[in-house]
Amino acid sequence: MSAMNVDEVLGEAEAAVQGASDDAGLEQVRVRYLGRKGEVTALLKGLGRLAPEERPQAGAAINAAKRRLTALIAERKDEIAAAELTAALAEDAVDVTLPGRRSGSGGLHPVTQTLARVEDIFTGAGYDVVAGLEVEDDYHNFEALNIPPYHPARSMHDTFYFGDGTLLRTHTSPAQVHVMERQAPPIRVICPGRVYRRESDLSHTPMFHQIEGLVIDRDISFAHLKGTVTEFTRQFFERDLELRFRPSYFPFTEPSAEVDVQCVHCMGAGCRVCSHTGWLEIMGCGLVHPNALKMSGIDPEAWSGFAFGMGGDRLTMLLHEVNDCRLFFENDLRFLEQFR
Ligand SMILES: [Zn+2]
Repeated sequence: MSAMNVDEVLGEAEAAVQGASDDAGLEQVRVRYLGRKGEVTALLKGLGRLAPEERPQAGAAINAAKRRLTALIAERKDEIAAAELTAALAEDAVDVTLPGRRSGSGGLHPVTQTLARVEDIFTGAGYDVVAGLEVEDDYHNFEALNIPPYHPARSMHDTFYFGDGTLLRTHTSPAQVHVMERQAPPIRVICPGRVYRRESDLSHTPMFHQIEGLVIDRDISFAHLKGTVTEFTRQFFERDLELRFRPSYFPFTEPSAEVDVQCVHCMGAGCRVCSHTGWLEIMGCGLVHPNALKMSGIDPEAWSGFAFGMGGDRLTMLLHEVNDCRLFFENDLRFLEQFR
């Protein structure tokens, strides 16, 4: 072995290190020269075959070559890492000169907007808003509202029962019962919220919205009810509209009436929305039945009241001339975005 031999191996190794373009390639070079069976290692092993006086010089040359090669590999390793980082950054680069993509803005559901509109009108007149419970018991949904078991009015409410005496409320009236139970008159509340019935067609969905109102005070008469409904429709539809009260029946009011409002679209002339009658039915109402007051511990001799109930979905349909209430619950953004 000669110094020449060491220089040759070192020269080859240096070229190989420079030629390695990634970590794996560089590792192959390291193993080939510095590994246990590597070429530089072989040179060290070969020292034993040299004459004793040649060994120190040859050993020093091989070790110098080994140190140099180790340093070169470390240096090349850093270069490769830096090059990879630069490439990765270039790939992830963001072109800040491109126009931005805005995130879409949401909006309130049209029915939610209607409920808020109704709440605004009534809170402005001093009413409280009570949400009530969606899961009710039979007593609050029916009995306390003068609808005992086997009462024919129950068949008007296709009810979802849970089997343990609880049910999904079929109207928002039970919220009023809770108010009468815990609060002494005078009472002025509206109860907007979701209600549930087992029905589904063009004009019915299994879940829909009601807004009920209840006023209990001294000497409340039908005139107060009429005045309230008239003022409400005027504010809600932003027009002076004729009203028509038709006698009707509800178990928890007596007398009871259904209210028609002059069609807001044709002003009574007759159109598709009002089925050419000129009128739109908007609510049921009446004076609170003395039994319903008694059931909640309110003396019907001392107090009287009125109650009314409207469909939040129906009001929304009338306001926007939508003829299929299912559209509100299909979550088609093309439909819903029109109400933003
Ligand atoms: Zn009409």
